[in-house]
Amino acid sequence: MAEANNTPYPYEAPVSQGLFDRASVVTPGGVNSPVRAFRAVGGTPRFMVSGTGPYLTDADGREYVDLVCSWGPMILGHSHPEVVAAVQEAVARGTSFGTPGEGEVALAEEIVDRIAPVEQVRLVSSGTEATMSAIRLARGFTGRAKVIKFAGCYHGHVDALLAAAGSGLATFGLPDTPGVTGAQAGDTIVLPYNDLEAVRAAFAAHPGEIACVITEASPGNMGVVPPADGFNAGLKAVCAENGALYISDEVMTGFRTSKAGWFGVDGVAPDLMTFGKVMGGGFPAAAFGGRADVMAHLAPAGPVYQAGTLSGNPVATAAGLAQLRLLDDAAYVKVDAVSEQLRTLVTDALTKEGVAHRLQNASNMFSVFFTENEVRDYDDAKAQESFRFTAFFHSMLAQGVYLPPSAFESWFVSTAHDDRAIERIAAALPAAARAAAEATA
Ligand code: PLP
Repeated sequence: MAEANNTPYPYEAPVSQGLFDRASVVTPGGVNSPVRAFRAVGGTPRFMVSGTGPYLTDADGREYVDLVCSWGPMILGHSHPEVVAAVQEAVARGTSFGTPGEGEVALAEEIVDRIAPVEQVRLVSSGTEATMSAIRLARGFTGRAKVIKFAGCYHGHVDALLAAAGSGLATFGLPDTPGVTGAQAGDTIVLPYNDLEAVRAAFAAHPGEIACVITEASPGNMGVVPPADGFNAGLKAVCAENGALYISDEVMTGFRTSKAGWFGVDGVAPDLMTFGKVMGGGFPAAAFGGRADVMAHLAPAGPVYQAGTLSGNPVATAAGLAQLRLLDDAAYVKVDAVSEQLRTLVTDALTKEGVAHRLQNASNMFSVFFTENEVRDYDDAKAQESFRFTAFFHSMLAQGVYLPPSAFESWFVSTAHDDRAIERIAAALPAAARAAAEATA
């Protein structure tokens, strides 16, 4: 393994800082999505100007190995030539028609071909829209109001799903944010993740009232916390017994954890599924789909309204289709191998410095928890020593490795992470592990 390299990246980022100052005048908190602001780790968010393969370059001209990959979508790395060519070709034909187009049919066919439980699919523009629409459809289909979600699972900023758990047993609809009313969150039941008994108890307490259970197929938004053996199958069974729909949110895992997403890993067929990120190839494209008899309730085929001016946008669908068509079996073998290599390097570096940690993965998605205990739910995740992550993060950043700026996020890799990129990460890890070891709360 290469020696620690502490020198080549001066840590200041004056150009990014100047841009952040400007941004903070015209945009709340200086960013258009909160986690980008580095609030969890402190410091100046890097304003990126370009990306190629596994690298990002910031406004100060510094290059980073990217382990965020735009929070998942860039599974082929940045500026993949075939995706860029597809986009250029689409743009040249026009950017939005407000009519149906062949590209959206082809993208829908690609999704249906890959994922057996998806008989029909509707394209939207963000993961949030996908989950919001799936919940509405589940309520419309069942004629019931209540929704079960799990603490630590994020499904976008849908009002009804911005309800967090209190500790222990079921917590009813306490809104997580001002602006979400008790009424909007009041039909949401939040349960601890991986706790099938809690799900059974909620169904027993509310017979005939629960429209659906929505879960991340394998959660990545509290760090990576895979479902316990049988958990997803159990959810499906409990939903079926009680006439509720089982919705698997694959916005993060879809087309990433395997060719058929997490369904391709655990084989549990949901009633409805949601997708985003990878399927948009870096553009705003997302989808929800599933059983044809349920999807038939969607307008204009059925009464449940759902629409979008830019849904199925021709440029976004061209990007998504190009990316999906490049994601063959060999691509997943490569991404999985990169992930495994990095997990080993991270574990070795932290172990060498005596840092208590736990590497958890769901196929190629992984994250590090600074705790020695297994993390099975959100309470476990919150019990980690996240101040150690802060030190680790800043050391990696200073050495040119861009990690997610929070201890509660998955790391993402791509087919473009080659030996050179991995060597650069390996060279940065010893100093980062030492920083984590020396960190104090
Ligand atoms: N669902 C999951 C599992 C997600 O990880 C996310 C975003 O990270 C969303 C939904 C929301 O997607 P978007 O940010 O595209 O609205």
